Amino acid sequence: MGSFDFFALALTCPDCGASYTENAPTNMQTKIQNHMYLAMLAVGTKLDIYYPITDCGYALVNPPVKKDSFTLIDAWECVNCSGYQWALITVEDSVLTGGQAVKLSCEIINNVNYLSDDANDIGWQIVSGKAVYEGSERL
Ligand SMILES: [Zn+2]
Repeated sequence: MGSFDFFALALTCPDCGASYTENAPTNMQTKIQNHMYLAMLAVGTKLDIYYPITDCGYALVNPPVKKDSFTLIDAWECVNCSGYQWALITVEDSVLTGGQAVKLSCEIINNVNYLSDDANDIGWQIVSGKAVYEGSERL
């Protein structure tokens, strides 16, 4: 009886350069599936997506053209520098097709469909479909 799954992606930390394979512990939790069971969701996995995705811990930035094909930004942890990091994930026809580490910025957030609610913790808000940074860290 898990309460979430994990995205399992090969990621390189943009802060310290540490790289992780899809089997590494990046603690990238997601509640995007109907039945969560601590599954490792790797590139190529067909997702059993729960709709609306806004009930899965993601804020809507831009409505996707097709509901099962979208991009989202989610949080992960770099154990090397203990940093909160972010990844841009792509889903096409419900299949996880890619993921890469990104730094959050208005530009990158404004181009995705969904943003993890975890971004609220460091000061990002979506206001009228646009990214607004209200945090204290220098961007
Ligand atoms: Zn790092």
